[in-house]
Amino acid sequence: MLSVKNLHASIEDKEILKGLTLDVPAGEVHAIMGPNGAGKSTLSYVLTGRQGYEVTEGSATLDGEDLLALEPNERAAKGVFLSFQYPLEIPGVPALTFIRTAMNAQRKARGEPEITAPEFLKLARAKAAELKMDFDMLKRALNVGFSGGEKKRMEIFQMAMLSPRFLILDETDSGLDIDALRIVSDGVNALRSPDRAMLVITHYQRLLDYIKPDRVHVLSAGRIVASGGPELALELEREGYDKYARAA
Ligand code: ADP
Ligand code: MG
Ligand code: MG
Repeated sequence: MLSVKNLHASIEDKEILKGLTLDVPAGEVHAIMGPNGAGKSTLSYVLTGRQGYEVTEGSATLDGEDLLALEPNERAAKGVFLSFQYPLEIPGVPALTFIRTAMNAQRKARGEPEITAPEFLKLARAKAAELKMDFDMLKRALNVGFSGGEKKRMEIFQMAMLSPRFLILDETDSGLDIDALRIVSDGVNALRSPDRAMLVITHYQRLLDYIKPDRVHVLSAGRIVASGGPELALELEREGYDKYARAA
């Protein structure tokens, strides 16, 4: 599904990604771990097309299609979704309204008709029930006054509604407590499916106790320097990243 080859990318003329190669097949969950400043968040921004990141070499394709040639909204319409590390609070806008607007923007980019109000509500009720969410919470202004755990739950709900095909969770700096860890991991596990792939970026081995990745990759100084099964995350927890540190 996702195929990244020899990707080089810079911010303000500083090269951050230095020949990154990564394949995530459909149906799999891959974890990326690595020391602070390795380029983990940069990878997620380059894949989603955030401004300010310049790709100087290499490629990234989704189902064979050149991702890097697409505008950010076109990537979203193809089903690329990056979780929000710092969730937006939008006073006055009910969460459901926000999500319906996002859904219709995606549909428009795909040339599909807008979802009708009854269809949308039916889907929202079904997804809320699946995720054991209180439906009334979705009528409140988006994230305003929500606890950390409630914001995480809202994020997972948004993902379930938008039904992305390729999902990136960058949790590095969010300081998840144990409740939030469970919410995120239950949500991710519920979204596992044969036609969807996920990249879970994390500092915490703990998250991977709940998510159980198919593969674990170590990102150090802008490259994937080691890959393995879930046992690699345990090794990193025990021994740290020193072994994998390389001269930048
Ligand atoms: P990680 O997520 O692995 O901690 P990042 O991708 O956030 O790493 O950052 C990788 C490197 O890029 C770091 O050295 C960081 O200081 C640098 N960097 C990140 N954003 C910017 C920016 N806007 N301008 C210049 N350097 C940046
Ligand atoms: Mg960081
Ligand atoms: Mg980061």
